[in-house]
Amino acid sequence: MRVSFPHMGNSYIPLSALLSNLGAEVVLPPRPTSRTIDLGALHAPEFVCLPFKVNLGDNLRALEMGADTLAMVSGMWACRFGYYGRVQHQILRDAGFTFDSILLGRDDLGSVFRKFRNTADGNLAAAWLRAFRVFRRKAAAVDAIEREARAKRPLERDRGATSNALEAGLSQVHRARDTREVDTSLAEGLEALRSVETDERDEPPLQVTVLGEIFAVLEPSLNFDIERTLGESGVATHPVLSVYRWLMRPLKMDLGITLDELRARRATRPYIAYVLGGEEHQTISGTINAARKGHDGVIHLYPFTCMPENICRTVLPRIEEEYGIPVLNICLDEHASPTGVSTRLEAFIDLMRQRRKSAGGRSTSLERSPG
Ligand code: SF4
Repeated sequence: MRVSFPHMGNSYIPLSALLSNLGAEVVLPPRPTSRTIDLGALHAPEFVCLPFKVNLGDNLRALEMGADTLAMVSGMWACRFGYYGRVQHQILRDAGFTFDSILLGRDDLGSVFRKFRNTADGNLAAAWLRAFRVFRRKAAAVDAIEREARAKRPLERDRGATSNALEAGLSQVHRARDTREVDTSLAEGLEALRSVETDERDEPPLQVTVLGEIFAVLEPSLNFDIERTLGESGVATHPVLSVYRWLMRPLKMDLGITLDELRARRATRPYIAYVLGGEEHQTISGTINAARKGHDGVIHLYPFTCMPENICRTVLPRIEEEYGIPVLNICLDEHASPTGVSTRLEAFIDLMRQRRKSAGGRSTSLERSPG
């Protein structure tokens, strides 16, 4: 079985581990590029949201590389994500490709479980258990390494040193074959990041919360690697979403994530009374929390035609006003240019620096927060 799935940030690391431990051969398409987006846009409906086009492009490239099975997470979301898998696979079949589908969240769990009965080594249940343990450990390792890199990057002495250490650490985790190797590569990756040389700064880095639609926040090809751009400009980023949270949330195995979701829904209710089916609760509550934590600003990333985030976009000015925190909204589509995004980021960084200066180095958001 030659299985593939679309990219989203570094989720390919735990997902590859899950599938290869079940005996499948993982066909990993290259990280999305403009060619991927062009390919997807060519076959996708014009006004579908951008992540759909990127995923479709990834799937096309995987099929060209010989994948015979495509896996996709589906769900019961009210937004389009619930239909991504089925519609994308139908488009690909209409285009003449033949392949098997695994639609997690749509197919019944029993059939997904049995799909690997001919590939898994020995007892199928034991293979799933083993695969899941490595999957979870790798997801946590990726999260820990990404967090360390985020804290280090704004202070690094040599531009790019953190990103190099991050890349090396992640590929070591990716290569690890079992949980013991994952632990070793995590420890080495963290050590390499901690030994990146830093500079003394006159003042602490600007603190920015990054939120919005999950794919726009987590996929660097879509957001022009905003985390790296900001980090290398001396800004510390705090994304409210992560690959680890996205993978663990539906499994309900992390009480912290479940409670955080409930708190986020509660904080969002005064602004949006209904569940829209995306990350709207994380966007609204994340903006409020950013102000309460005294962050200097919020960056809201969302794809053009994204229903939940466009609704948030209309609510955010009110929160911006009530809590006194600046929000930069960046709408992304296949025509967005890296120059356009970096110019807006530069202007936003200037604005945050000025605000901090005029407040005498204190956070202005904390002073005005009604909470
Ligand atoms: S959250 Fe937005 S971009 Fe993501 S699938 Fe739903 S509508 Fe599309």
